[in-house]
Amino acid sequence: MSRVIGIDLGTTYSCVAYLEGGQPVVIPNLEGLPTTPSVVSFTSAGERLVGTLALRQAITNPRNTIFAVKRLVGQKFASPEVQKARGKLPYGLVEAPNGDVLVSFDSKSLTPQEISSMILGYLKTCAESFFNDKVSDCVITVPAHFNDHQRQATKDAAQICGLNVQRVINEPTAAGLAYGLNTGSNGVAAVFDLGGGTFDITLLEIQDGVFNVLSTNGDSYLGGEDFDNRIVDWLVDDFHRETGLDLGTDKLALQRIKEASEKAKRELSFTTETEINLPFISSDKSDSKHIRKTLTRGTLESLTADLVDKTVPRIEQALADAQLTPPAIDRIILVGGQTRMPMVKKKVSDFFGRPPEEQINPDEIVAMGAAVQSGILHGDVRELVLLLDVTSHSLGIETENDGYEVVIERNATIPTRKTKAFTTVENNQRRVKIHVLQGESPLASLNVSLAVFELVGIEPAPAGVPQIDVTFEINADGLVQVSAADVETGSQHKIEIRPSSGLMASEVKEIMRSLGEGHGGSGEDG
Ligand code: ADP
Ligand code: MG
Repeated sequence: MSRVIGIDLGTTYSCVAYLEGGQPVVIPNLEGLPTTPSVVSFTSAGERLVGTLALRQAITNPRNTIFAVKRLVGQKFASPEVQKARGKLPYGLVEAPNGDVLVSFDSKSLTPQEISSMILGYLKTCAESFFNDKVSDCVITVPAHFNDHQRQATKDAAQICGLNVQRVINEPTAAGLAYGLNTGSNGVAAVFDLGGGTFDITLLEIQDGVFNVLSTNGDSYLGGEDFDNRIVDWLVDDFHRETGLDLGTDKLALQRIKEASEKAKRELSFTTETEINLPFISSDKSDSKHIRKTLTRGTLESLTADLVDKTVPRIEQALADAQLTPPAIDRIILVGGQTRMPMVKKKVSDFFGRPPEEQINPDEIVAMGAAVQSGILHGDVRELVLLLDVTSHSLGIETENDGYEVVIERNATIPTRKTKAFTTVENNQRRVKIHVLQGESPLASLNVSLAVFELVGIEPAPAGVPQIDVTFEINADGLVQVSAADVETGSQHKIEIRPSSGLMASEVKEIMRSLGEGHGGSGEDG
């Protein structure tokens, strides 16, 4: 039987693992490292680099080096988040015909799904080289708060690189699985995941092999990059004050400052001060200018305290949804590189009144959990009987005057389904439109639009007479499916679906076909 790999596709770093003798093991990348930068770069020679090699030349090739694409996956170009990110990115963003965001470089544009597929393809290659065998199946993780578009886009990315996704699983749930498998201890765990771009908090109960996710919450625009940007702004402002020069528009300088800032931030998790040294960062008519500054842990903390504070209301909401208070939490599992920052650890410890678990590798535990999940699917993990995860967003439909009616509440255990009866409001009405949304706002327009489902071919009848049962379903991957049945005939009712975002199945195929052609003549045969 061919191997199934577990993939943590991170904003900044990705990791791949598999299950060996019932235990998860991380697969090293081609450079022998356990994690791979989620970076893709296109060189002037027309070469494509992924991971460490791509990151290494980011400074000299900033416009064609794509990082943090996970923040763009499944997003609209016009969304405030994308517009905000845009100003900070050295590479370009443009709008797709359907309003989605596209990555642009070198007069080309690619979907975030395609960029992600290049990272996944690299991880697949690493695994294949490790096993010396083909790999085609995977379990892939996503942040718990990812909506339907973001999940579907991640799945499409895997498909583009030839990976069949057996299950999409939430990152914190995966971390909980890997942790629970190793300790076998019962109780309620809080998984606090602060990575490069996103924050998730998940509460889960572990009881004799049953993993029951109680609630989840998060912020898709809060992560280590925001901490880096605070240092960048601090350096740029200071440089402007001292020299009158604005580095904010100099992409090359900004890329160097960003790298130095991230490095300084990492160091300050272990030391109390560090020096940022960037010679020849700019120049004016008279001479070259340099940045040379000492950054202390105290200054970093004051620059970023509000970012850490932003996690608190999310934790409180997750507790409230699970009807728990901080003392009810038995274990705290820290995930994500940014949790190495002492201020983050302290905030979480103070909040819950207990220290986090030691001996968890925050960079690897999610991929390990994905590998455990693959084992559960194949019956290779005997200790775990059942995993009950939840949906992080309410699912509902638009009603009159921009209203929103919730059909499936957030934190409902998945898979789940709900059926609602629809009818017509006019005589001889042949179509009924159902606008499906995800989110918590009472206003339809403030939630994420998933798709418009149109029930078509309704037989002419007086208003209110036709009865069509529409079933809304969230499957084990957290993906939304809608189906409809005619109550009278019991037969499947025809629906036309207009998704608000993402690639159509035919577009995924088209991309795969064009990639196949690109590889044509290499002598490789299916
Ligand atoms: P993701 O899963 O989102 O890719 P990771 O879990 O890999 O994220 O975390 C990456 C983030 O963690 C980056 O912002 C990185 O700068 C930060 N990070 C890594 N090591 C440290 C450290 N020692 N101190 C503070 N932040 C760190
Ligand atoms: Mg992560």
